[in-house]
Amino acid sequence: MSNIKVINSGNKFTHASVGKLHTFEGKQFVKDASGATSCEISFGTLPSGASVPFFHSHKENEENYIILSGAGRFQVNETVFDVAEGSVVRVATNCDRNLKCTSSEPMTYICIQAKEGSLGGYTMTDAEITERENLL
Ligand code: ZN
Repeated sequence: MSNIKVINSGNKFTHASVGKLHTFEGKQFVKDASGATSCEISFGTLPSGASVPFFHSHKENEENYIILSGAGRFQVNETVFDVAEGSVVRVATNCDRNLKCTSSEPMTYICIQAKEGSLGGYTMTDAEITERENLL
């Protein structure tokens, strides 16, 4: 069941929300609600002691896991290491991955999935400062 709701949108943006991260378990995928064309983003929560129920691998997309709260163990093929709030784990294509929450509090994380090798210009090579009245 998806918790993702579109809050508002215009012809140049979509604002969607999964709501409070502690209100669901498992994964919430954002792309269908946001209309993203460059990546898939998912929010994940794992209760204490739980791991993702399966290993998986991707053929073309790398994944970047960003741990928002809690702590746990991450496995890539035969390598296992600790992760905690603030960790960012990039996982390449064609390998198996899984993670487990080992903290007493749930582990919450974001996973960004994008085509491996597709990032061209970014930050200041892609962005430019523009003139706009600040309405905030
Ligand atoms: Zn994946």
